[in-house]
Amino acid sequence: MLPFRFVYADGYDLHLGAHVFPSQKYRLLHRRLLSEGFAEPADFVAPEPASDDDILLVHDPLWVKRLRTGTLSYHDILRLEIPYSRQMVEAFWMAAGGSILAGRLALEQGIGFNVGGGFHHGFPEHGEGFCAINDIAVAIRRLQRDGLIRRAMVVDCDVHHGNGTATIFSGDSSVFTLSIHQYNNYPSEKPASSLDVHLADGVGDAEYVHRLGNAFRAAIGMFHADLVIYVAGADPYCGDQLGGLDLSLDGLAERDRLVLWTALQHKIPVAIVLAGGYAESVEDTITIHANTARMAKDVLERVGWKAPDRLPASGDTAGPG
Ligand SMILES: [Zn+2]
Repeated sequence: MLPFRFVYADGYDLHLGAHVFPSQKYRLLHRRLLSEGFAEPADFVAPEPASDDDILLVHDPLWVKRLRTGTLSYHDILRLEIPYSRQMVEAFWMAAGGSILAGRLALEQGIGFNVGGGFHHGFPEHGEGFCAINDIAVAIRRLQRDGLIRRAMVVDCDVHHGNGTATIFSGDSSVFTLSIHQYNNYPSEKPASSLDVHLADGVGDAEYVHRLGNAFRAAIGMFHADLVIYVAGADPYCGDQLGGLDLSLDGLAERDRLVLWTALQHKIPVAIVLAGGYAESVEDTITIHANTARMAKDVLERVGWKAPDRLPASGDTAGPG
């Protein structure tokens, strides 16, 4: 049995058919983790869909209503860039429930791994870039509401800027957002995260890992988080159709190691969410996500995890540096 749990539901599939977003990747990754013998069925737990109350912790009631009732405007659909269906909407509620559960499991076991989620282009009042609901933000708000965490950090390593997440938490001192992304890429407007690392086109393994390491260590030095949400997008990969960075499989694994190792060394648990991945061959995208899971096991076994008995007292916000 693995030292952490995967969170997965067949309902994660957005059922997009032939679309650049391979929404069947969740099912394929679940199958790969089992078929390679890395995980067994008992390593997976099934989430409940988020409740509407959970979704409303982040999203505007009118946006939720339009999704729920299938009354999106033409403009809404254009921005979302995926076709509307009931299954699509249910998949977003399920992904948000999965990220909430992955966060809870991370607090207990050091790591929680949602085999889905990472919809960082979701805004309170609209969706865009394949993201209708921002599961990252919903998870943080629900865990805060339940008193399980006070302060969270989002480490967004998808090749695209985390514009929705940055907007949602703008001016909120309880959530630190770090986004490292290709600057000359979607979204054209990049509202400021707490810390943005804008990368030039074609940046490769060495520069990426160097700049991410500097940014993440600086972030941890200035902000004490009770939980990191690691947005482990597969699209910084050199073979990605929607990305313009040049990371190899080894470079992506080194990125995973850096984020997981640094957080756990500082006794900060990590909830992992998948986000994007548009390699020509979907198998490459699956390999990148599966490698993140392997790294999670390796790092967790090396560093270990002891769940804290309680949250630190409210004045106790100085980070371990
Ligand atoms: Zn992306």
